[in-house]
Amino acid sequence: MRIWVGIDDTDSPEGMCTTYLGILCMEEIQKAGYEVIGFPRLIRLNPTIPFKTRGNGAVSFLVEAPDFEHVREIVDGVIQENSCLSHENTNPGVVFVRDEISILDYLTKFSLKAVKDVVSLDEAHFIIGKFMIPHLKYKKGRGLIGALAAVGYEDKDYTYEILAYRKPENFGKPRSYDKDTFFRADELYYPKIWDTVDWHNRIVVCVPNGPDPVLYGIRGSDFEAILKATEILETEEIDRKMMFITNQSTDAHIIDEREAKNVSNHHSYSLTGVVVEKPEVIRGGHVFFTISTGFGMIKCAAFEPTKQFRDIVMKLVRGDRIRVFGSVKKNTINLEKMEIIELVRSKEANPICPVCGKRMESSGKNQPFRCRRCGTKSTKKHLMPLKREIEEGFYEVPPCARRHLSKPLVRMEGIKKHVFR
Ligand code: ATP
Repeated sequence: MRIWVGIDDTDSPEGMCTTYLGILCMEEIQKAGYEVIGFPRLIRLNPTIPFKTRGNGAVSFLVEAPDFEHVREIVDGVIQENSCLSHENTNPGVVFVRDEISILDYLTKFSLKAVKDVVSLDEAHFIIGKFMIPHLKYKKGRGLIGALAAVGYEDKDYTYEILAYRKPENFGKPRSYDKDTFFRADELYYPKIWDTVDWHNRIVVCVPNGPDPVLYGIRGSDFEAILKATEILETEEIDRKMMFITNQSTDAHIIDEREAKNVSNHHSYSLTGVVVEKPEVIRGGHVFFTISTGFGMIKCAAFEPTKQFRDIVMKLVRGDRIRVFGSVKKNTINLEKMEIIELVRSKEANPICPVCGKRMESSGKNQPFRCRRCGTKSTKKHLMPLKREIEEGFYEVPPCARRHLSKPLVRMEGIKKHVFR
């Protein structure tokens, strides 16, 4: 029988990674003589969930095995031995789901909710009960949410990421790699791969810094290009590699304003609005401004890590019509990208005297303008062209500030875009 295995919440800020643990499970399942079918899947869920360790990722893969029981025993052994069970915020959950349309369709709805919304552990337990899904639950078992969502996720849009892992003896030590080879890989294979490096900020963005086992992850749309790119990279010895199919870089978390009933914290949106307050920079380099939308006034933020994206934001003026994309936290939408729909191109000024050509002066509130020289009066303001240093189109944060689920502009066709690379 074909069984989907979904796993989540196995790591902690001190180490491990659910993708790595998933691979260990797949290896043990194969050693037992069962087949793992196709690519494993790395599904990113709602990026605003407070319990997440890092990127709110969950893993699933498909297995051909005679029954659930032995697969469950194998996975249990791997989790007991390798997950960060002693960490208070690690609450692993694993599900074993029959590869049947009736169950998977139901799970797809749950999964889309887990990507865009907040779901309760009770909802996960309800599904497990309804379909009598064999599962493993450790401590609070909150990982059951992500585990079910990783099995049920279904969308037309998907990308790939190859993850390379370190030798266990190197976990926690500084990562050793030749930076230039990553820039070279990007030079050769971009835009089939993206977010490998950030040229402007001179950072290799695909190598994490934490104590987890990941050495690097190369993302892209074409897995052959990804594989070729990895051949160029010079790094410390690699222990394992695995290609994942993923919902990263697809904007799956974004709720379009046409579907939204309101705008609330812990959700991500695309919203059109008009700038009502000029952007201001505060200490620490964070930029804030407000737009007026169909949902009321919304505060927008471009935080310091979004680097040169803030320079574009700072050039917005009152009256500009824009569309913002990002997650709402603390009643503020954290910008991931924006579309400038229409810029204000003129500003009001005192009129020019039609008789002597001098600029007229205001003679007080609700009073007409008056020419000092010849006394001519006028009530009409003059429109002066406003020079703008930005133009209409899409702008995005640079690769060093990209969130896993954000769709980079390089993946968006038929739009006018300004890519930071
Ligand atoms: P890991 O690599 O372990 O998966 P992570 O950054 O992905 O690390 P987790 O440790 O998995 O974070 O923690 C996220 C927790 O939030 C999991 O228990 C998951 O089941 C749960 N979760 C995910 N999405 C939602 C959601 N939309 N609503 C409620 N809980 C969620």
